[in-house]
Amino acid sequence: MVGGEAEKGGIGGPQLANRNFIRAPLHPCDARGALLLGREHTMTVEELKALVRTVPDFPAPNIQFRDITTLLSHGPGLAATIKHLARQAEQAGAQTIAGMEARGFIFGTGVAVDLGIGFVPVRKAGKLPVETIGVDYDLEYGTDRLEIDPGAIKQGQKVVIVDDLIATGGTALATAQLLRRAGAEVSHALFVIDLPELGGADRLRAADVQVDALMDFAGH
Ligand code: AMP
Repeated sequence: MVGGEAEKGGIGGPQLANRNFIRAPLHPCDARGALLLGREHTMTVEELKALVRTVPDFPAPNIQFRDITTLLSHGPGLAATIKHLARQAEQAGAQTIAGMEARGFIFGTGVAVDLGIGFVPVRKAGKLPVETIGVDYDLEYGTDRLEIDPGAIKQGQKVVIVDDLIATGGTALATAQLLRRAGAEVSHALFVIDLPELGGADRLRAADVQVDALMDFAGH
C-alpha cells in the first residue's frame, strides 16, 4: 500500500521544510552515451514512496513486505534517497556511518561515500574474521545476534546508524547498544522507511537516539 501518511518530525531544523523536494545531481547519458554533467533531477517523497513495492503476506501472513528492490533499480530514485540520507547524516555531525547487514550496507555505504567518511558493517553472527563484540536481541520468534569489529570504532566517534527500514526497532536498538559499547557516540539513526505503528522509532528515542525516516507506511 502506498498511502499518504503525514510527514514526521525527525532530526529537526529547517531542512524539514524542504523534505518534500529532494534534489539529487545526476549524470545521465545522452543518446550517444555522453555524460551530461551538472544536471539536477528532483523527486518528491511521494514519487520515491511509489518506487517501494509492497508484497502482501511475505514472509508471513498479514505482513506487508516493503520491498526496496524496485527503488534500488531506479537510478534517480536511488540517488535522491542517498542524497537525502547523506544530508541528514551530515547535519547530525556523522564522523562515520554504521549499517546493518544486509540492506543497511546498501544505503549506509552510499551515504558514507557521499560524505567521504568511513563505513562500519554491523554483521550477522560469525561473519567477521577477527575478535568481535556482539549483542543478542529478541526477534518475534527467537533471538538474533549482531557483531562488529571493535577496532573499527574510535573512542567518542560520532556514528550515525543507517538502515532501510525500522519496524519494532529491535535491530537498530541492538546496533546502538553495540556501537556505544565499542566507545561510539550514537545520537542519530536514519531510515528510508518507518513503520510507525510498530513503535520502533519511539523505542530508539527513549534510548536517546534521534530518528529520521524519509517515508513511512501504515500497518505492519
Ligand atoms: P526491526 O528490528 O523490527 O525494526 O526490523 C528491522 C529489519 O527487518 C529491517 O532491517 C528490515 O529489513 C526488516 N523488516 C521488518 N519489517 C519489514 C517489512 N514490513 N518490510 C520489509 N522489511 C522489513
